[in-house]
Amino acid sequence: MLNSREGAQRPAEALHPVDALRAGSPQALIHAARAVAAVLVEYRAFDFEDRWDVFIQRAIGCALRDQAGRRGDLTPELRRISVELLRDPLADAVGWTRDGQLPWFEMRRAHPADDAEVTECFAREISKLPEQRALVLRDVYGEGRSFDQVAAQRKIPLRMVKRFLRESVWDLRERGLSRDRAQSRGDERVKSCLKSLELDLPAFLVEPHLDAWRDFRDHYPGCHDCSAVVSNWSQVELYVRRACGGPDLHPSEDDLLKLHRDGEGLAYGQYVALMRHLDGCPLCSEAMTLIARYDGRAYETALIRMAESAPSARRRRLQNWFGQLRARFAP
Ligand SMILES: [Zn+2]
Ligand SMILES: [Zn+2]
Repeated sequence: MLNSREGAQRPAEALHPVDALRAGSPQALIHAARAVAAVLVEYRAFDFEDRWDVFIQRAIGCALRDQAGRRGDLTPELRRISVELLRDPLADAVGWTRDGQLPWFEMRRAHPADDAEVTECFAREISKLPEQRALVLRDVYGEGRSFDQVAAQRKIPLRMVKRFLRESVWDLRERGLSRDRAQSRGDERVKSCLKSLELDLPAFLVEPHLDAWRDFRDHYPGCHDCSAVVSNWSQVELYVRRACGGPDLHPSEDDLLKLHRDGEGLAYGQYVALMRHLDGCPLCSEAMTLIARYDGRAYETALIRMAESAPSARRRRLQNWFGQLRARFAP
């Protein structure tokens, strides 16, 4: 059941995703919401968590408005739009005024889908881990279970679950990435800021939303050294997620819709599995929030209106920057 590829046949599938969205397909809305939420998780936008809802609606609204990706795949277009929407609050949060570039080094990195060979290598290394560790890793990164759920099911203490994850990410980084690759990502170069060395980076990766990391979260996007280090580690985590089959293991859109409709047509076991998944998966829970808001009815106009209200702060900032530049080079 936990496989989005096994969804029942539905008429919306014949349409291009943008047209399906325009036609008000709730499945298309779930799909799009998960794609945007995936970017927010990937970029560790936890300090803006109270605004995720708005980000998601705006990103989908922009895609609808621009009819983006009509000829291509909608998902990369939604990713691009989401990063774009995230850029302003991110720049504001870290007081980024340096230039018109992206404030976050991480934004420059390639998406792991680009490198199937490395993903395969990670998958091989995961299968070589001690059995219990590999299971915990797959539970969390593959099945999207929460740490508490894994601890209860596997009958191991919670702190052990977290330790397994931290240590496995560390081990896999050593083994999964070749030395050349790790070096080419700049982790070994000379640093002027040593903040990242004082921290347990794998622990930050495992629970980046904790209050304990707030200072570091405020610091690293604006620091070239620390953002490079976080970027490298995040890349490892993304590979691990991918190697565990994470992205393909979400419930189907149809199952989430059934759950939304008071669980009609779901067996009790399915219902329990879905609730458990939602508990640990921000992607699916964000999609459920959105679907509850629009109740599967036409949402196109509302979302486009949200997109129109997107702030144009970035444009203003760019204009300021051009102004300063012109002033500086004026004869
Ligand atoms: Zn730093
Ligand atoms: Zn999910």
